[in-house]
Amino acid sequence: MLPRGTALLANPILNKGTAFSERERDALGLRGLLPPRVFPLKEQLQRAIANFRRKTDPLDKYIFLSSLQGRNETLFYRLIEEFPDEMIPIIYTPTVGQACLEFGAIYRRPRGLYITSKDKGHIAEILANWPQPDVRMIVVTDGERILGLGDLGAYGMGIPIGKLGLYTACAGVHPYCCLPITIDVGTDNPKLHEDPMYVGLNQKRLRGPEYDELIEEFVQSVKKAYPKVLVQWEDFGNTNAFRILHKYEKDVLSFNDDIQGTASVALAGILGGLRLNGGKLVDQKLLFLGAGEAGTGIADIFVEAAVQQGMSEADARKRCWFVDSQGLVVKERPGKLAEHKVPYAQDAKFIATLEEAVDVLKPTTLIGVSGVPRTFTKTIVEKMAQYNEQPIIFALSNPTSKAECTAEEAYTWSEGRVIFASGSPFPTVTLNGKTYVPGQGNNVYIFPGVGLGALACESKQVTNKMFLIAAQTLAGLVGPEDLAVRRVYPPFSKIREVSAKIAAAVVEECHREGLAQLPKPADIEADVRARMYVPEYQEYI
Ligand code: NAD
Repeated sequence: MLPRGTALLANPILNKGTAFSERERDALGLRGLLPPRVFPLKEQLQRAIANFRRKTDPLDKYIFLSSLQGRNETLFYRLIEEFPDEMIPIIYTPTVGQACLEFGAIYRRPRGLYITSKDKGHIAEILANWPQPDVRMIVVTDGERILGLGDLGAYGMGIPIGKLGLYTACAGVHPYCCLPITIDVGTDNPKLHEDPMYVGLNQKRLRGPEYDELIEEFVQSVKKAYPKVLVQWEDFGNTNAFRILHKYEKDVLSFNDDIQGTASVALAGILGGLRLNGGKLVDQKLLFLGAGEAGTGIADIFVEAAVQQGMSEADARKRCWFVDSQGLVVKERPGKLAEHKVPYAQDAKFIATLEEAVDVLKPTTLIGVSGVPRTFTKTIVEKMAQYNEQPIIFALSNPTSKAECTAEEAYTWSEGRVIFASGSPFPTVTLNGKTYVPGQGNNVYIFPGVGLGALACESKQVTNKMFLIAAQTLAGLVGPEDLAVRRVYPPFSKIREVSAKIAAAVVEECHREGLAQLPKPADIEADVRARMYVPEYQEYI
């Protein structure tokens, strides 16, 4: 039943604020609770964007948007839909990183669920406290590796909230179906133990079998409470991320965006780059700085794409090289390599530095995913430009402060020949009268569409092949107007279109792989579009 009066105004999914009509005000006990003039959504939007633009500090903009989301979700999502280029960098990277760092200080009201290591045996009861019964989309973190910022414990909640906001804004997954969750197992970040505003458990991180038991209880409780749910694992530390992903990928509909979503968006960027420099995927040699979730995930999908083009898996792996904190990842390196690096340990001489590795290997593509800023130096970019007519250089570490180099540096040091993308946005660069628009390799191009597709056909599983198809679909949507300014991704203004196309391609793939549980619609794309939530007010009376 529709709530009335102040209860209706306090419900962000139903609230329309000053847009309630005269009839609704009379029938729903709102008369007198609102200023007399009725403002349609269009006029509310004008006020909201003016208020947003009046704030100069990105964190103030974030706080403004969070409180709007807590008041009136329709207006919030409409604002993002109308002004995606301004809104996405605020609700997600880079500003969300700052919001997580200062989560305790800017905390206003609860959003999502907190499950802690003290709740063992009671997770089902906690899920039952969530008011919406039909949850379809959960984004869950344990806060151990937030963006490139490290262990932020319970402050990491900003990430599931932000990502679910993007699911709704960019792919039309209904906000009613979305549930952000933080599993708070403590933090090993000493600063947070001393932070008087810290909102989480003040204890060291739970690890080992007790941690695994908590995750197991979480998965089984979620499956029982919401049988059709898709779980997105988010910003787990890499000792847990790979294990959890592989342990549960067939047990519950799930994926890890940091590994698979990143991989897909980076591959799309490479494919877009090859449209610019005329290269072939199978001729590429990739050098990564950083061999974590993002780096090895990108290499895995590159291998899958190369195999699809007829290369053997072993040969494709030989084209992926990694420099991590210890130097080049090679077989002869002393010490035990983490499991996810083993397939990429090359039979070659050890090299200690990135610069030397660039010199010896002469890669076509250099990808920064180490979270260590300023590591693509002038010399390194110049060398890449010396060995390649149009090198591909992606500085993917987030937030902006962690980027391996700036867009301006990359274009300047390569005399405008580089094909550049970054994890966080950089402004347009003008060099010798030519305009360069750096693409943002933001996972937002991929995960909302993949998630929507998996939900639309009630897939049993999300597979790597779906992320490969998402990458190819995204690369195909880069238009001549993007390539003209050397941008390897479409603009954010096309994001709902991108998500709809990716979702349709994913549904097609789910049927091909026999994973879809709903019958195949005659027109898949039309079916996907019909499922997308549109932020418009309903007439209640
Ligand atoms: P991770 O912790 O799993 O991996 C980091 C890797 O960097 C590790 O292999 C580590 O050994 C290596 N490393 C650390 N210090 C180094 C140094 N000084 N030199 C060389 N290597 C070093 O983290 P991740 O999930 O792989 O993310 C890494 C970065 O990529 C983060 O900054 C993250 O924000 C960014 N990222 C960007 C996107 C995107 O742009 N779409 C997506 C995901 C992650």
